[in-house]
Amino acid sequence: MNYPKRAISRGYTNRILSVDLGTGFISTPELDSKVRDYFTGGRSLGLYLLHSAITPDTDAADPRNPLILANGPLGGIPQFPGTAKAMAVSLSPLTGVPGVSNFGGYFGAFLKYAGFDALQVTGKSASEFMLVINGFTNEVTIEEAPHDEEAFDLESHIAQRFAAAGYERRNIAFMSTGIGAVNTDYGCINSHYFDVTKPAKDGGKGVWRTKQAGRTGIGSVMRRKGLLAIVVLAEYPHGENPYGAADWGRVLDAGKRLHAIVKEIDPQQLKMHRKGSAGLITFMSKDEYQSLPVKNFQGGSDPRAHQICGKHYAEHLFEHRGMDGCFPGCNLQCTKGGWVTLVSGDHAGRKAWVDGPEYETAAGFGSNLDIWSAEFIMEANWHCDNYGYDTISVATIMAFLMECFQRGYLTKEDGEGLELTWGDEASALEFLHRLAHGTSEMARVAGRGMLAIEKWVAERFEKRTGKNPADELALFAMQTKGLPFSFYRTHRSLSMQGSYAAASDIGAHHAAAWLIKADLLGAFPTFQDKARALMTYPRVRLGNDNLGVCKLPWVDVFNPESAKRLGEDIYINPASQDIYADFYNGMLGTDLNWEQIFAQTDRDINLQRVMNVMKYGAETASYDWIPDRAVGPTEDSLYEQEAAYNDAELERVTGKSVAGMATTEKRRLLMENRKSELRRLIGVYYAERSWNSKGVPRVASLKELGLWDFLGRETRDRLSELQ
Ligand code: SF4
Repeated sequence: MNYPKRAISRGYTNRILSVDLGTGFISTPELDSKVRDYFTGGRSLGLYLLHSAITPDTDAADPRNPLILANGPLGGIPQFPGTAKAMAVSLSPLTGVPGVSNFGGYFGAFLKYAGFDALQVTGKSASEFMLVINGFTNEVTIEEAPHDEEAFDLESHIAQRFAAAGYERRNIAFMSTGIGAVNTDYGCINSHYFDVTKPAKDGGKGVWRTKQAGRTGIGSVMRRKGLLAIVVLAEYPHGENPYGAADWGRVLDAGKRLHAIVKEIDPQQLKMHRKGSAGLITFMSKDEYQSLPVKNFQGGSDPRAHQICGKHYAEHLFEHRGMDGCFPGCNLQCTKGGWVTLVSGDHAGRKAWVDGPEYETAAGFGSNLDIWSAEFIMEANWHCDNYGYDTISVATIMAFLMECFQRGYLTKEDGEGLELTWGDEASALEFLHRLAHGTSEMARVAGRGMLAIEKWVAERFEKRTGKNPADELALFAMQTKGLPFSFYRTHRSLSMQGSYAAASDIGAHHAAAWLIKADLLGAFPTFQDKARALMTYPRVRLGNDNLGVCKLPWVDVFNPESAKRLGEDIYINPASQDIYADFYNGMLGTDLNWEQIFAQTDRDINLQRVMNVMKYGAETASYDWIPDRAVGPTEDSLYEQEAAYNDAELERVTGKSVAGMATTEKRRLLMENRKSELRRLIGVYYAERSWNSKGVPRVASLKELGLWDFLGRETRDRLSELQ
């Protein structure tokens, strides 16, 4: 199908690409300006498109469930740091509610350059295809895909095919999945791009690199549609004002200012350009924070943390030559990577390029499995990307299984000869391979997610012993709404507990409200501060996902000017927010301050909640909860592990001495108090959002917000019934 070329105007192409794989019908509808101005782009636009494509009864496996990839109006503009981000949106096969995952690399930008603000794929094909969006010839085609089960084989074949057709590798970007997306419900999508600056294995220059849309199983949706890859061929727009900014000079000035701050400050602060995000490991592991998950969140700190921290990677494993921005213009350059020789699987002995690990992967495959080998973590990272499944979900489920073996809920027989034990690298790698191919019952069930494997373990144990351990397993099966936890141990951060439980509507993930670091540093000293943070931070964080910008140049580079902003929350880095507001106003021709810009995120936060309510109904509030393990010690020995801190907290909240009190009683009181505080926080959060006590948005407030007009009839009817 051919489509007309179109210039970018104020960061938009004002057009969607819609593909039905069932019928082969391809169309390029206009993006309605009312929808654009209300939902902005990226995640928000994706949620609107998702809502429009489904009914309240559609499930993730339904061919009507769309796969949506959307950029935002500030995405793909290399004159400003960190404009790499785009969003994947779909109903999640893991949770059944809208799944959202951001991803870096060039794809989002190239999709815009090729002429589209979003791609929406519906339908299912019996054969395996790839979609090719050619921004040079202005043509969209559905083509036969190379029959590769692994993402890096697919990468080689796609690269060869388009290079042979005369395209330069730097003009090719694509999204891929692998066999792990078939055999699990938490498949990821790899975003491939060619880094021309990185030294290659053979001594030449240029390496294919990947970022991932990792969470919520959107790769599984893509693969089950029969879609192995989506390729976009494009070049950067040229000219005086290539992205159609309302005030290009203002954009350039904002870009230069943020660039200068990143350049000056990062080397003095987190050194992301050397360590990547894994530098966070030792911070979370600090004795006073106890926030690095160890052995399935049983512990929060370990003296070996430095062995898997960013500093170790920076000094021993990362290849620093070349540029590590996941999109041109990002001088934070946190996308680190290096070469590692694989020791397991079909590729044992191969020297492979690994993008990462980022903090989550390092904590998930490291501390949380009690494995302290950086090389192991890099290998696990590579297999996950190659198989096409989410590192976080895989690692959290594996930690749960290790604890099941530790506590005798599983035996070697259950694992068909494989026993997963803490610190055992070989068995962990073997599990990764089994999981990808579904080669044991335990692996096949684990592929269906945390809830499925929890149930399976309970049934096996009951069959063997006559006792049903479901209640005990629920204490440490680390999931919310079916999504396995990312890696923050939240015992010492009530705000982060609230984030995982209620502010993240996709389930237990930190993207919406990563409050733990600021909370540990003392940013939210009072209960009211914590409740307010659950409102203000998601507006910015999810707002960034709507705009197409990366959060890290904002959240990980503290602008010294912010420290001077008396009377404001300096932890939200207001001086840098002002720069983002200039970028936004320069592109869109508006005149809003950063708070006004990000207050618009309330629209899509409510839309997402409305879609969750369509699944959960009157039970919505009961899904806004976290397992006991995320709240505090789940057994006496774990209380004793942090006895001084726990005793002090208990004395503070009860106003009484706990000297001489039995640990069991102290633990009961502590857990009771923490849960009650969490319940109270969630209640305040609902009230702040104008949701009722069941977590359901009120019709009147949706009307006031203007969202009501964009909701489907059935959705409005059901919401009205639930008031
Ligand atoms: S800060 Fe890191 S993740 Fe964000 S755009 Fe830059 S390189 Fe990519």
